[in-house]
Amino acid sequence: MSGTVQERVYLHKQIETMDLRELKDMQLKKLKAVVDRALRTEWYAGVLGKAGIRSGDDIRSLDDLRKIPFTAKNDLRDAFPSGLLSVDRDEIVRIHASSGTTGIPTVIYHTQGDLDNWTALTARSLTATGCTKKDVLQNMMSYGLFTGGLGVHYAAESIGMMVVPAGSGNTQRQFKLMKDFQTTTVHATPSYMLHLHSKMEDFGIRREDLKLARALVGAEPHSEDIRKKIEHLYGIDVYNSYGLSEMNGPGVAFECTEKQDMHLWEDAYIMEIINPETLEPVKEGETGELVLTTLDRVGTPILRYRTRDLTSVNPRPCPCGRTHRRIRRIIGRSDDMLIINGVNVFPSQIEEVIMGMNETGTNYQIVIEKNGALDRMIVKTEVSRELFSDNQRDLERLKQCIQDNLAVSISIKPKVELHQPGVLPVSEGKAVRVIDNR
Ligand code: AMP
Ligand code: ZN
Repeated sequence: MSGTVQERVYLHKQIETMDLRELKDMQLKKLKAVVDRALRTEWYAGVLGKAGIRSGDDIRSLDDLRKIPFTAKNDLRDAFPSGLLSVDRDEIVRIHASSGTTGIPTVIYHTQGDLDNWTALTARSLTATGCTKKDVLQNMMSYGLFTGGLGVHYAAESIGMMVVPAGSGNTQRQFKLMKDFQTTTVHATPSYMLHLHSKMEDFGIRREDLKLARALVGAEPHSEDIRKKIEHLYGIDVYNSYGLSEMNGPGVAFECTEKQDMHLWEDAYIMEIINPETLEPVKEGETGELVLTTLDRVGTPILRYRTRDLTSVNPRPCPCGRTHRRIRRIIGRSDDMLIINGVNVFPSQIEEVIMGMNETGTNYQIVIEKNGALDRMIVKTEVSRELFSDNQRDLERLKQCIQDNLAVSISIKPKVELHQPGVLPVSEGKAVRVIDNR
């Protein structure tokens, strides 16, 4: 379906098709400025000071980027609450926080200018997938601290799309909204798209009842086969969308109508791909960990952020005419973060809950499997033998309690199984706590 006139529309033509050399000049200029802004934060004043960087002018070329130390998710936690704030708090109009964090969140503070820039990048991305003001966007991502809701919402409005802010869940209502408002474009996780389809028949919905033309999917890894499957089931075009809250959220990298890898907006981010072991850059085209530097961020500037996402660069020019280089599908993570129906979960969060309770705390295991199209997590834990010989009601209560504590900690309610001591496998050497059967 590529190649039609409508698909060649750019939102920011001059920037999107900018000569690579010009783009690099722009990056250097912006990098100096963002280093100056970062130096106004308590955190980077310390970190950059130690690295001998006292002003943006100490960065003389893009190669000097490598003088700047990496920033990790833990640094964001250590800097909480305001170590990474570069302006007066009065200038901040919104915060977002990443899922997969407990206790101390990784929070990003946005000024109005930050939000406007984010909206522009995401709007540019929507346009690249062929969205226009004639389209109706149903946003099935959750609204709130998670960035997939509000991020795409404002972007779609800014290009005149009609937005149905449905939020996540409630399958039957999603179908009703799609029919009532003739939704042409949906934004969801790929697994939710598959789940939704599996319920169509139950709710008496036929493909012809819907006006769907495209789906924007992201927030979790998925294969080309999954894309094709969703496209085939609904008879629509599916586009991959990549983002993370530390870098705003959606609108970091997006597929265009060529559907071949995602343009990473290099006027707003500097990308590096490193070997996660040696921390050295990989050769262009090789797989490694994506490291991103914000160029426009004012509220919370972030330099050389280790995303932990594994990908590679496709340096070939894209037929769409956009010059910003593309990254390939995310193929995994260089840490142990799990993504369960789009929600980030670290096994350590589960361990904290289990170990924090008196009744549990010996051995546990996390099993993840497919339940239809969606992911299901089962947390198995051993409890004392005495508890097992006590009455069933106490066990039920304990199960409920673990489940509730987990729900608070990881924002999802897994199935909990209690076992007698010695039942769960004990591995020699490094414990295998996570069994991912997806
Ligand atoms: P969050 O900060 O909660 O929005 O989570 C961001 C993380 O979700 C990223 O670092 C990726 O691990 C994952 N993610 C987001 N979009 C995609 C995508 N299109 N493909 C694979 N993983 C994704
Ligand atoms: Zn393209």
